[in-house]
Amino acid sequence: MADVHMGAESETFAFQAEINQLLSLIINTFYSNKEIFLRELISNSSDALDKIRFEGLTDKSKLDAQPELFIRIIPDKANKTLSIVDSGIGMTKADFVNNLGTIARSGTKEFMEALQAGADVSMIGQFGVGFYSAYLVAEKVIVTTKHNDDDQYVWESQAGGSFTVTRDVSGEPLGRGTKITLFLKDDQLEYLEERRIKDLVKKHSEFISYPIYLWTEKTTEKEVSDDEDEETKKEDEGDVEDVDEDKEKDKEKKKKKVKEVSHEWQLINKQKPIWLRKPEEITKEEYASFYKSITNDWEDHLAVKHFSIEGQLEFKAILFVPRRAPFDLFDTRKKPNNIKLYVRRVFIMDNCEELIPEYLSFVKGVVDSDDLPLNISREMLQQNKILKVIRKNLVKKCIEMFFEIAENKDDYAQFYDAFSKNIKLGIHEDSQNRTKLADLLRFYSTKSGDEMTSLKDYVTRMKEGQNDIYYITGESRKAVENSPFLEKLKKRGYEVLFMVDAIDEYAVGQLKEYDGKKLVSATKEGLKLDESEEEKNRKEEKKKSFEKLCKTMKEILGDKVEKVVVSDRIVDSPCCLVTGEYGWTANMERIMKAQALRDNSMSAYMCSKKTMEINPDNGIMEELRKRAEADKNEKSVKDLLGLSIDEDETAAADVDVDVDMPPLEEDANEESKMEEVD
Ligand code: ADP
Repeated sequence: MADVHMGAESETFAFQAEINQLLSLIINTFYSNKEIFLRELISNSSDALDKIRFEGLTDKSKLDAQPELFIRIIPDKANKTLSIVDSGIGMTKADFVNNLGTIARSGTKEFMEALQAGADVSMIGQFGVGFYSAYLVAEKVIVTTKHNDDDQYVWESQAGGSFTVTRDVSGEPLGRGTKITLFLKDDQLEYLEERRIKDLVKKHSEFISYPIYLWTEKTTEKEVSDDEDEETKKEDEGDVEDVDEDKEKDKEKKKKKVKEVSHEWQLINKQKPIWLRKPEEITKEEYASFYKSITNDWEDHLAVKHFSIEGQLEFKAILFVPRRAPFDLFDTRKKPNNIKLYVRRVFIMDNCEELIPEYLSFVKGVVDSDDLPLNISREMLQQNKILKVIRKNLVKKCIEMFFEIAENKDDYAQFYDAFSKNIKLGIHEDSQNRTKLADLLRFYSTKSGDEMTSLKDYVTRMKEGQNDIYYITGESRKAVENSPFLEKLKKRGYEVLFMVDAIDEYAVGQLKEYDGKKLVSATKEGLKLDESEEEKNRKEEKKKSFEKLCKTMKEILGDKVEKVVVSDRIVDSPCCLVTGEYGWTANMERIMKAQALRDNSMSAYMCSKKTMEINPDNGIMEELRKRAEADKNEKSVKDLLGLSIDEDETAAADVDVDVDMPPLEEDANEESKMEEVD
């Protein structure tokens, strides 16, 4: 047995704390879906085979130790073990210690949290800790591995806090690859049954592109003479059974029929790549099963696009959109691992950054090119023209697929919920497709009700004389809905889009216009609305009468504001703070501060100066104006601004124009509260 290592020292290692916790959770919690362990281990084998095949493309000798690429499954009923063997890349001793126990993946903690929140254990592969699913069915696991650059080693653990690693001096040599032996728990012996294993491979691992062989038992009937019988018995160590003994004895004295048990490797998966088949001949279930096999997702895909490009350049591809965002969608530490690149059916790599832009990193799938050289290196890929064309086509097809999803309202809602940030990132980064991507945007608005609106629909609702598309940015829908900045626009019946996602500001900053209409922020200075001559004249006069107050207020507020002006747009509230036309909006400032700016000197530099806009039609402002005109030393205005409000100002009693803490736009709620008091 492999766990006897004569002459080699065992080293004991403690599992990293989080891994240890994970193991306890796996072992001590009841999960009905234990069968997924096999899929996880086969998937690891397949990855390891991909790696050595790729190395072999540039250096054939890497395959020498074991030229055949395979996965083998060996059930052993006598010892209650199930082994999975692959001729993949194997692991060095250092890999062993790091990968299987001492370094926790970023997903370890997330996975445990997901489990505790009721997630299914079958999600394990997505979190990069699939190996440990072995302990769903095994009480002890022994892993033997051989990497080209190191000796053969054995890893062994019954969980319980530690594992050992030993140089394997006496075990059967693997040549190259990894063998995982599971010592099954007594209630998990079903995984030794041929039928069960075959069904599982069909269900979860059908699209593995390496042959999966099962060590099967075959029983044949054979006529033997009594003397031969003795010999056979010796050979097969009791595996021979007598058949119809009495009958046989009657008929022929010396001959009898026996059942003979033999073993053979049986190929149990089909390996014809699904992307080579005709789309019309592939069922939805087959796509789903293929999708799961390449992504480790436990749910079906939301959308699929299977196509081939022909002509000067030829390639086939299948692209999928998942139903949910992965837990680490925008984790920059994560390597992209989404589109698998094949060259003439041979897997090349699955983290080719040149294949798809970052904003589409949530799209999964395969691309099989007929034109790229087989021995292509990563460096070559970077400037490869063929790859550039493939990339361009993939982006186009992805966007087509998103529009197809948009044909179904519920599907699109799910898609948008998960990936709207990616679309917005695309608008920011992908100038070529910006216009198309803009059609995928959805926002709530002053007129949208419970369903989000597209820009296209917004345009159909635009009022006569309305030239621009208005939007307001802020922290949440609730925060912007009652903003005083909307008053004037609402009064005119102009719809305003609520952009409440942090990334909206970046996206809209690049988009600038849609369908020939400018996108205009309702909170920026100089928001111009067309109006009648009469109205204009009235405003001008009003403005003049407030000049003194504006000046006084600016003197009192000093550096806290850039200037104080009479507003064109507030209808009810007394005043608001506005960002300069070319400065950042207050929302952008909030985002920038939250992102990186812990350093105050930096933030002072980056903050945009605010303009205070006052509403000349508001009772409070009218009162202030009167005081400013009458009061030479500005004392009562100062008092008012400094919080001490006269008892007789009942209308203004709740107004808190606290200049020490100028409210940002998102605090506009406060101001609308004031209005309710009015
Ligand atoms: P994941 O496969 O998602 O990375 P796992 O917990 O399943 O996470 O495996 C951890 C690591 O152990 C793998 O990334 C790989 O480096 C190594 N590993 C696991 N199984 C094998 C195998 N059969 N052959 C070679 N390396 C393996």
